[in-house]
Parts: sequence; structure tokens; C-alpha cells
Amino acid sequence: MALAHVASMRSEDPYRKVGAAALDFDNRVIGTAYNGLAPGFNAPEGFWDDREARQKFMLHAEVNLCSLFRRGEAKLVATTTMPCTACMQTLCAYGIREIYYRDVYHSSDAPEIARLYGVRLERVDFTPFDGGPIPAAP
Ligand SMILES: [Zn+2]
Repeated sequence: MALAHVASMRSEDPYRKVGAAALDFDNRVIGTAYNGLAPGFNAPEGFWDDREARQKFMLHAEVNLCSLFRRGEAKLVATTTMPCTACMQTLCAYGIREIYYRDVYHSSDAPEIARLYGVRLERVDFTPFDGGPIPAAP
């Protein structure tokens, strides 16, 4: 979840920053991703001002994450927000067995989808950085 949180900090979306991280079956990190625009696309002036207008263009963190591996390679995904219905379907298609999220997303059907497919979907608490600045090594 710490990796997902750090990934979320890279999102350019001023309204909602979502990050995600994937582990393989040996618990190695396969990748991290965040919500944003298609690779190589530079947003025109004013693009970030209208949340409603830009929503359909935003690629969700989970979709960007799944672009980093092939089906069956990842076992676990941590995401800062519960996957939306479409992302939950995508994660299931990629064979993800465990999904952990921090923030609840009420309009998502993810819990129902997880139950049907036997995917573990669990909320976890995560306090990003609670101890103030990290002192530099002497
Ligand atoms: Zn989504």
C-alpha cells in the first residue's frame, strides 16, 4: 500500500489521485501505476480545469497497472481506492487473486464481483508518513 500511495502522488489529476501496485506469486513487485492520460499524450491548456469533461479520457490506475504484465503473472494488487466496476472486471480478467484497497468507493460493484469470482477484496488501513521528515543518514 505504501508503494500504491507513492505511485498516486505522480498522478496529474488535481481532483482524484489513485495509485496501484502489483506483486507476482513470489511477492516481487511487478509494477506501480496511477491514473492519468495515455502515454505520450500531453494535455492541452485548460484540460485539468473541467473534471466532468476529462473523466472519460482518464485511464484508471488499475488499467495502467495491468498494461505492465500479462494475464496470470500477478497475484496481488494494492490500490489506494477500491476498484471501480470496470477496473474490478479488468483485474479479474488478468487473474488477480487478492486486492487490497485503502479508500472505499461506494458506487463500485467490486465487492459483488469479488464474491462471485472468489477474489479476496479487503480494505486495509494505511497512514502514509506519520513521523515527519525522515532524517538523512549521518
Ligand atoms: Zn477504475
